[in-house]
Amino acid sequence: MSEVLDLVIIGAGPAGMTAAIYASRAQMKFVILEKAFPGGQITNTYEIENYPGIKTASGFELTTMMQEHVTHFGIEIKTEDVEDVLLNETIKTVKTSANTYQAKTVILAMGATWKKLGIEGEEAFSGRGVSYCATCDGAFYRNKTTMVVGGGDVAVEDAIYLARMCEKVYLVHRRDELRAVKVLQEKLFELENVETIWDSELIKIEGDQFVNKAEIMNKKTGDSRQIDADGVFIAVGSNPNTEFVRGKVDMDQGGYIATGENCMTNIEGVFAAGDLRQKSLRQVITACGDGATAVYSAERFI
Ligand SMILES: Cc1cc2nc3c(=O)[nH]c(=O)nc-3n(C[C@H](O)[C@H](O)[C@H](O)COP(=O)(O)OP(=O)(O)OC[C@H]3O[C@@H](n4cnc5c(N)ncnc54)[C@H](O)[C@@H]3O)c2cc1C
Repeated sequence: MSEVLDLVIIGAGPAGMTAAIYASRAQMKFVILEKAFPGGQITNTYEIENYPGIKTASGFELTTMMQEHVTHFGIEIKTEDVEDVLLNETIKTVKTSANTYQAKTVILAMGATWKKLGIEGEEAFSGRGVSYCATCDGAFYRNKTTMVVGGGDVAVEDAIYLARMCEKVYLVHRRDELRAVKVLQEKLFELENVETIWDSELIKIEGDQFVNKAEIMNKKTGDSRQIDADGVFIAVGSNPNTEFVRGKVDMDQGGYIATGENCMTNIEGVFAAGDLRQKSLRQVITACGDGATAVYSAERFI
């Protein structure tokens, strides 16, 4: 068993990387563990214009800058998938596929993952016309017809992004108004090649080798119709990556972790930061704020 650390940070998205910068400056003994690439969800976003000091950047540029900031402090982000945690003892245990770590405090910063619709054709055509990331796959649909499903910020951003390269974009939303912020809605409604289909749900995705049709149903009339589409982008929200802490810390029915204003969970010495936490606004800036707060609280806890 290795030495007892001050802190283990799980996840290297904006929340985890901010926590690492703060922990380094606080001279804590810590590790930061990331199962994939540092950066988290934002990595694939084409444009961010709501992070103060950076008027506009792609998600990749912003997270690369964050990563460079982390390595500037001599911190290594370890590529390890956390599989289990034991949190109730004074000294916490974090088990990855490769190692076991012990620490006085743990920051949970595993973020969230896109939700699926669970409809016919979604799984079968995943990667063959069904996508959850317009910025990753949009370029494959140049001059083609695409459909975006959802009504929040991400769905509207995706539709705006796709409109730049696609001949036609349908935005299918199950209500009669969008949830996205007004500035995005204004941008969307200015675009002539975007058609919003209200009160409707995508019920089936069809095709041969690749997607070529999407069936939608009007929720008010019950009428269904097929629309020719080469790509379907699903942007209906996300689920928190909290499976391995279920039953170990307090969370709501959706799996979002409950904390106080100091980011501490109901378990002493265990903190949650970023999108996996119960909160009203899930953005880069609030994730970074949580990362900083969680380290400040962890330091005081120790
Ligand atoms: C398409 C899209 C566009 C967006 N646009 C904007 C925008 O314009 N502006 C804005 O402010 N926000 C935007 N957001 C929201 C923003 O991306 C999130 O709020 C932010 O990334 C949350 O950061 P986080 O660190 O909490 O989580 P995440 O970014 O989800 O990072 C969590 C990290 O933890 C890792 N992880 C998960 N499980 C484990 C495990 N078991 N072991 C080790 N590591 C693990 C993941 O691989 C991931 O790297 C957008 C999100 C999406 C999806």
